Amino acid sequence: MRGVPVRCPAAALLVVIAGCGANRHLPDGAARVPEPFRGTVRITLTQERLGQKVEVRVSDPDMVREFLAAIQLVPKNRCKCDHFQAAVFEKQDGSVSVSLCDHCFDFSGRHYKMPAEFYQLFQREIGKAVAAPVPSKK
Ligand SMILES: [Zn+2]
Repeated sequence: MRGVPVRCPAAALLVVIAGCGANRHLPDGAARVPEPFRGTVRITLTQERLGQKVEVRVSDPDMVREFLAAIQLVPKNRCKCDHFQAAVFEKQDGSVSVSLCDHCFDFSGRHYKMPAEFYQLFQREIGKAVAAPVPSKK
């Protein structure tokens, strides 16, 4: 059969171009930061386990941005697991406390799945502090 217009490749190309255009308007991921965490200037990470408390303050703007970009809120049901880790997001107008574990990200009475990327960053920073423990403030 000759003369049949080959439309499919053209249509597929249009879809791809439209898709790219939509993403281009997002300024380096900032627009993706969930509303409760926008404007965070400092994040305090804590871990309390086996009588040892570790606290890490993240105030480097680049690193704060890295943490914020990793947050994705996917609702889930509440778990019954014990949380010994937490993160407090400090903003100009208040703070948001998140209770967390390797699979939970809970705040304001709501329950979300732990974003894998966020937990990796959390573990990395807490890990550095565990390696060089600071004296207890008690
Ligand atoms: Zn949990």
